[in-house]
Amino acid sequence: MRHVFFAALAVAVAIVAPLGRAAQQPPPQARTGDQQIEILPVHGSVYMIAGAGGNITASVGKDGVLLVDTGLASMSDTVLDAVRQLQRQMQAKEPPFDVRWGAETRGTLQNSLNPFGPPKPIRYIVNTHFHPDHVGGNERLAKAGRTFTGGNVAGDIADAGQGAAIFAYENTLNHLSAPTGAKAPTPEAAWPTDTFHQESMKLSHFFNGDGIQIVHVPGAHTDGDVFVYFRGSDVIASGDLFQMTTYPFIDVEHGGGINGIIDGCNRMLDIVIPEFRMEGGTMVVPGHGRLADGADLAYYRDMLTIVRDRAQALIKQGKTLEQVKAARITADYDPRWGANDERWSTEKFVEAVYKTLQPKPAPKATTPGATTKKKSR
Ligand SMILES: [Zn+2]
Repeated sequence: MRHVFFAALAVAVAIVAPLGRAAQQPPPQARTGDQQIEILPVHGSVYMIAGAGGNITASVGKDGVLLVDTGLASMSDTVLDAVRQLQRQMQAKEPPFDVRWGAETRGTLQNSLNPFGPPKPIRYIVNTHFHPDHVGGNERLAKAGRTFTGGNVAGDIADAGQGAAIFAYENTLNHLSAPTGAKAPTPEAAWPTDTFHQESMKLSHFFNGDGIQIVHVPGAHTDGDVFVYFRGSDVIASGDLFQMTTYPFIDVEHGGGINGIIDGCNRMLDIVIPEFRMEGGTMVVPGHGRLADGADLAYYRDMLTIVRDRAQALIKQGKTLEQVKAARITADYDPRWGANDERWSTEKFVEAVYKTLQPKPAPKATTPGATTKKKSR
């Protein structure tokens, strides 16, 4: 009897949940030509904008707009449309008090009493790392925005011409301004304006009701990754430390490594609290793919840890890269995370894992007369 009851309950919940969400807030869409992006409400004032390259996380509210990442350069106008759409939605919301407007006073009263006022500009952009699918819109979106300059500067006056502030870890600025190899630097207007080199930084004040924490994870997807935690809305923007599409892309050339990615997932899991039985609760906007929660992140962390340990064990036995590849250490996860396109493949992932687990070469002897070891490859 009890089993039947619970089974019926489960079915009812499964049917009601998606309908309930859809009825509340149909995901709005912004369209420019053929390119379409999706805007998804996450929690509180935080939204996910998907389809413009890497996922963008947007905080939209009475203080203005904060964006984590800016998508591909080619999508900037579409992203800006999406931000404007969210701002209009914000505007249309009822003020939290009951005022009956008179025809005469409506304009002035509304301006002075409506806490949302005219839409506030994009104030801040945070870059999770330097890849062009995450920072491509920096220039366009920062220019459309405005730096917050303090209590006496209201709304849209004064400091026109000064764009939004762009925050990033300092290595991210270095890769954009002075790229290695033959790559040309990105235009200066797209560079981060505020960098940090400590483990983490916080925005000095609440923004749309959130404390904003920016946490650096060393040697992970690149050497300049950060994730952003919205402490009131309880949302993490992970950047490419975590994605829902394929095995992680490890940019070994720019200081990435498998252990750093696992560390990053663990740092985020420290923050995540599920609502009930590993479902819901803290939401995570991944670098790519669908919106996730703690269970998705934990599954990803476990998968990476298992694959890392398999590779590590083979490396300890002295296996070569070819032997590790032949051992098919990802076989059981390939149906879910495997990839094979020009950007990223399972083979490249295993290669990157192998490379970044190699023991560090012993430091060169500095004492005079000491014999130097044979060069190792
Ligand atoms: Zn990336």
